[in-house]
Formats: sequence, structure tokens, C-alpha cells
Amino acid sequence: MDKSLGLYIHIPFCKSKCPYCDFFSSKADEIALEEYTIILLNKIKLWSMKIPENISTIYVGGGTPSILGAERLCRILKSVKDNFNVLNNAEITVEVNPDTGKNINFNCLCSAGYNRLSIGMQSSVEAELKSLGRIHTAEDASLTVQHAKNSGFDNISLDLMIGIPHQTAQSLEQSIKFCFDCGVTHISSYILKIEPETKFDKIKDKLVLPDDDEQAKLYLYAVDLLEKSGYKQYEISNFAKKGYESKHNINYWNCGEYIGIGPSAHSFYRGKRFYYNRNTKDFENNKTVFDCFGGTEEEFIMLSLRLKSGLQFDEYRKRFGKELPRFITDKVKTYAKLGFMQMDEKKINFTPKGYLVSNTIISELI
Ligand code: SF4
Repeated sequence: MDKSLGLYIHIPFCKSKCPYCDFFSSKADEIALEEYTIILLNKIKLWSMKIPENISTIYVGGGTPSILGAERLCRILKSVKDNFNVLNNAEITVEVNPDTGKNINFNCLCSAGYNRLSIGMQSSVEAELKSLGRIHTAEDASLTVQHAKNSGFDNISLDLMIGIPHQTAQSLEQSIKFCFDCGVTHISSYILKIEPETKFDKIKDKLVLPDDDEQAKLYLYAVDLLEKSGYKQYEISNFAKKGYESKHNINYWNCGEYIGIGPSAHSFYRGKRFYYNRNTKDFENNKTVFDCFGGTEEEFIMLSLRLKSGLQFDEYRKRFGKELPRFITDKVKTYAKLGFMQMDEKKINFTPKGYLVSNTIISELI
């Protein structure tokens, strides 16, 4: 079997709700954490019976997976390994919040087979952490990274946020330098988006947010500083030292297939996209919802253009048995003249400036 899949597992719990966040998560006590773990172990078994393919990446996300504690996270991974065909060199990531991360048993996670950590820090500036409702300090994040490294993790990602209330180029630089000093191998840097029905959405008129121009400047500044410091941009919001790009996420952007287990988790399997609703009951009752057929030309163009490696003509030809339509390359030539895109004989891709308007350009292209 040459085709392999990604596996995503959702942990829908957090200690408290950040006001900008629209992920499916809620508070839970120890009993609820244990009950969910047991449900999850059961579902892992069920899914494994339907999936003969190899698993090349595993990503335990949330929510806050580290809230489960190392012992439960290890049980979950053991169950995946016992039931699925997990490749020996699989990338296995778990998300860690600096609040719970500084006390978690990283030795145990490492021995169980987790080999990549994604730590949600967002900023190293205390006032910004506060305005984001984060319940940890920058020091918690640094301690988490140091403990993880001491336990053998060398593939560690930190999340940063761009466009935080009152953020300036100086404060962003402080956060980026903090990540360098921690010596992490990967940095994700997302622009804050006010999602409907979040707390930030309700108070958006009172928030002092950078306007679109300021936000664009901050983004371009971050890209430049990260690149100069050896973190190469490989996707709109992701930067890595050579060889440390997230394989799990690259599979999404390459239009690869994956299974998502847990409430709100999405899957793309055997050409179909489907998901679990945002409630634990439907998950318990094995109720998934069909979304659409995936892997279409439009989807492939849209997803691959997120990557710096871009839309590869060869890959397009291989998948769809034809050349990329001429009207697309003609439009790309116009955007390339304006500095938004680049095209050579092998591929087309966005420039950092182009990423800022990529949604608009993509909708023009397809
Ligand atoms: S910790 Fe992460 S998942 Fe939980 S509420 Fe905050 S941003 Fe959302």
C-alpha cells in the first residue's frame, strides 16, 4: 500500500476560553477528561477497522491536549499505534499550552513516541498575552521549551500572533527574538482574525487593533525577520529551519487525505470530505456529516498556492491529466508584474506581499 494518511485527534478541552478563539473546546474536570479519553480509545479502534492505509503523520490538537496530562496522551498514542499501521518514521505532534506544559512529563511523551511539539504561545509580551486572555506568561513558554528539550524533543514549534491589540513592530520583534532565543525549529505566525460569535467579536468596536495597512506591515516585517534568522517561509503562516517543516500540515496543503477523530474534526478520505459536528454527542454516536467531494482542480490550486513551493505544473498534470489552463497562467503573469506572484517553468507561487491578498487573487484565478 503506497498511499499513506494523516491522522488528526481533537481534544476539546481548555482551562479557560481565549476571547478570540472559535475552536471547539470547553472546560472539563478530571472525570470528564477521563471519560473523553475512554471514548476516544474506543473510536480509535473503530476507525482503525475501516482504514487499511498506513499512517504517516499524527497530530493531537485542540483545544488543549496537554490538559489531559502525559499519561492519558500516552494511552491515546499507544492505542493509535496498536490499532493503525503507523509508519516507523511517522511525525507525531502534540499541542501543548505553556500553562500546562511547564509541568507535563515530557519524558513520558517522548518515550511513547511523540516527536514534535506545537506550543501555543502567541506573544512574549506580557501585556499582549493579557489582552489575548492567555493564562500563561512568557516565562512559562520558555520553561516549557527548556523542559521539552531536556527530555529529548528537538522538533518544537512556537505559535505567534500578528495583529494583537496595541501590537507594534517593536513588540512583535521582541516576540520573534524570544522564539529565536528559545532555539525552536519552527514558528507559526497567524494574523488575528475576529471570528463570529467570539468574545472579541462582541467587543470589536472597543478593541485597539492594528488597521489593515498596519497589519500588512507587521506581517511583512515578521516574514523578513524570520527569514533573516534562518526560519524559511514554507506556507503563508509557517516558517521552519531546514527539514523541520510540519509534514502533517503539508499533507493538508498538498490535498492529501487524512482522518480526523473527535468533535469538530474534519476528514478527507477516499475522495470525500466529511466532519463531526461541534458536539460530543454526535461524536459518541459516530455521526459524521458529508461535506463535499474533495481533491478537485479548484481545491488543489487553492491549497497548493498556500505553500511557498506553490502550484507545480507537473503535479497538476499528474493529477488531472492535462495542462494548467492558459487563462490561469495569463492572469498569473499580470499578478507577477505587480509583485504578487512568481512564475517559472515549473511552478507558480505567491510572494509575501501576494499572500496578504491571496484569497482575492485565488478567487480571480479559479
Ligand atoms: S487555549 Fe487555544 S484552543 Fe483553548 S481557547 Fe485558547 S486559543 Fe482556543
